[in-house]
Amino acid sequence: MAGQARGKVAVDVEECKGCGLCVESCPPKCLELAPELNVNGFHPARYTGHDCTGCGICFYCCPEPGAITVYRIKAKPKALASTSTSLQGGEHAAAL
Ligand code: SF4
Ligand code: SF4
Repeated sequence: MAGQARGKVAVDVEECKGCGLCVESCPPKCLELAPELNVNGFHPARYTGHDCTGCGICFYCCPEPGAITVYRIKAKPKALASTSTSLQGGEHAAAL
């Protein structure tokens, strides 16, 4: 599913046990298991680099504390022009 990324994830490769729960649970399917092995002989999860929504489902599914970290990207603030107009009161300001 394509969409604007609102988050990103980082996987601690050496903490990951390659169970794949995060891969299966990710709604936009933006995680995958890497073909290479970590030091423990597991295929670690990795972020494909796009479409993460920052929902955190992968974090809550992961049985390994610290293996996966979710970052949310802050939305850009709305245009100041319309905000300043409503704060200053204008023809559409509510009558108090
Ligand atoms: S935070 Fe949500 S969208 Fe992002 S990788 Fe995890 S499950 Fe997928
Ligand atoms: S759920 Fe956790 S341990 Fe399992 S593959 Fe994903 S990051 Fe690795």
